Amino acid sequence: MNRHRVVIVGAGFGGLFAAKALRRADVDVTLINGTTYHLFQPLLYQVATGILSEGEVAPPIREILRRQDNVDVRLGWVRDVDVEARTVEVAGPGVSYTVGYDSLIFAAGSSQSYFGNDGFAADAPGMKSVDDALELRARIFHAFEIADLQTDPADVERWMTFVIVGAGPTGTEMAGQIAELAHRTLPGQYRHIDPHRARIVLVDAVGAVLNTFGDQLSTRALRELHQLGVEVELNTTVVGVDPEGIDVETVRGRERIPAMTKVWAAGVSAPPLARRLAEATGASTDRAGRILVEPDTTIPGHPEIFVVGDLMALPGRDGRQLPGVAQVAIQSGRYAAGQIRARLAGRTAERPFRYFDKGSLAVISRFSAVASIGRLRLSGFPAWLIWLVVHLFYLVGFKNRVSAVLHWAVSFLGRGRSERVTTLQQVYARTAMRDFGDPFAHPGDGAGSTAVGAGAGSPRTSR
Ligand SMILES: Cc1cc2nc3c(=O)[nH]c(=O)nc-3n(C[C@H](O)[C@H](O)[C@H](O)COP(=O)(O)OP(=O)(O)OC[C@H]3O[C@@H](n4cnc5c(N)ncnc54)[C@H](O)[C@@H]3O)c2cc1C
Repeated sequence: MNRHRVVIVGAGFGGLFAAKALRRADVDVTLINGTTYHLFQPLLYQVATGILSEGEVAPPIREILRRQDNVDVRLGWVRDVDVEARTVEVAGPGVSYTVGYDSLIFAAGSSQSYFGNDGFAADAPGMKSVDDALELRARIFHAFEIADLQTDPADVERWMTFVIVGAGPTGTEMAGQIAELAHRTLPGQYRHIDPHRARIVLVDAVGAVLNTFGDQLSTRALRELHQLGVEVELNTTVVGVDPEGIDVETVRGRERIPAMTKVWAAGVSAPPLARRLAEATGASTDRAGRILVEPDTTIPGHPEIFVVGDLMALPGRDGRQLPGVAQVAIQSGRYAAGQIRARLAGRTAERPFRYFDKGSLAVISRFSAVASIGRLRLSGFPAWLIWLVVHLFYLVGFKNRVSAVLHWAVSFLGRGRSERVTTLQQVYARTAMRDFGDPFAHPGDGAGSTAVGAGAGSPRTSR
């Protein structure tokens, strides 16, 4: 009855791995998440381009934790924290509730950032949620369908131009997959257009693709993108987005790219809930709105509140902020759980959190990736094999692994895409949510994809 109560906000990598690490602890865990599923964000681009189904990257949280008796999974968006009463306020579907805690782990992740230009979101969706990926899937596949119906060559070109903003791993992966769609999957299926003629433009404000991977891999990735037929526009800043195109500032001056399909893969910022947490606790935030934490990932003056994953701002050994990547979230989530266990066992002075960097991977096309692991730099097929093994290992659930492998075989060994279905309901429901507000997400909770941007900042450069 009087067990220590741990509340975890968010069931992404940080929250889920924290909950799992408390499996044998003498605590009651309440895991609150705004969706019913744990989302494997690194594979969202494959949902958007028809390789994987949404179910394969988003298994139900309840199913993952069904054998862990000390966890109560609850659906809802946490809206506020009362640090005096030690409670969190939650908005569920048609019901609001309050949950008390003794220890609180905040793992609410990050939102898409448009660097203060939130108006871009309607015409250049980001990729942070299943809804985003399905919307993008509809936009990408329908662009070819609509192009096939056009009679004016300028309209055909506008529908067959795809602009991806942000040449980090997500943007690069997205550009590579749209190119593969155009050159391998769709040719031969249309009678009025030639999908080979699709124009795929990858834009970034900095001067390199995958710039956190270093010069050697960045150059290699650029070469591969060119071979795939992707136009790469570096040192190019987006200054306007509208339904029919995108305006950019390049070294040549201001230019317009007519394009009906735009994808935003350029930036992240903390969800608005971070601001409320900072106000409630007196914590400071960094430029992107992330909470500055102590070396043990707690909020200064609040040893009972941990912040982990993308939401946490903590310098690594090199003095730079730890990047917003899955491994930081997993390791910090496990660490916070370990701290709680240690405290309950009467051990107080545990070691500070140390991130172990296992390396970075990015796929460019089938059988081709880049990998930076310690001092090792790999590209091409060996890097792609590592990518395959790592993603299979971390994909949650045996069923999902088996079906993902089958779908990868269809797309990588063959030319097909198993998941090309898009429904009208997806398109209209999303529009309705934008117009009328998601009935159970509250504005400002970071629940939707059109989350508020953090203002200034460079495109996301690290994962
Ligand atoms: C498209 C994309 C591709 C990526 N690719 C890679 C990659 O290849 N490699 C890599 O290492 N990293 C990658 N990342 C980054 C990686 O996914 C994140 O660093 C990681 O998911 C962070 O984990 P987290 O637990 O902090 O947050 P998340 O995984 O984002 O989880 C946060 C959870 O909190 C929930 N939540 C948010 N607000 C609330 C609230 N108010 N109330 C209740 N629940 C809430 C959300 O629903 C979500 O389930 C990618 C990210 C994206 C978007």
